[in-house]
Amino acid sequence: MGETRYRPHPFSWSPGEGRRHAIGEARPPGGWPDGTEVTALCGDGIRTDNSTFAWFWPTCPDCNVKAHHLAKIPMTPGSQAPSS
Ligand SMILES: [Zn+2]
Repeated sequence: MGETRYRPHPFSWSPGEGRRHAIGEARPPGGWPDGTEVTALCGDGIRTDNSTFAWFWPTCPDCNVKAHHLAKIPMTPGSQAPSS
């Protein structure tokens, strides 16, 4: 049986630099080791942090928008700035 790596979207989430960013690079099995330099969808270069508390950091708003766009999922009401 061939191994099928399920990858529903062309990005993965990883904490780094105080926020959870979406990363467009292929995620290595098991995720990136701590301190790996990757470029997030928002354009920030981050160092990944796999500590438990890092996963509770707030989502990077720029990555959130770009990730929704890539996944073709509309932003949910309230997650965008008011247009008024
Ligand atoms: Zn980001």
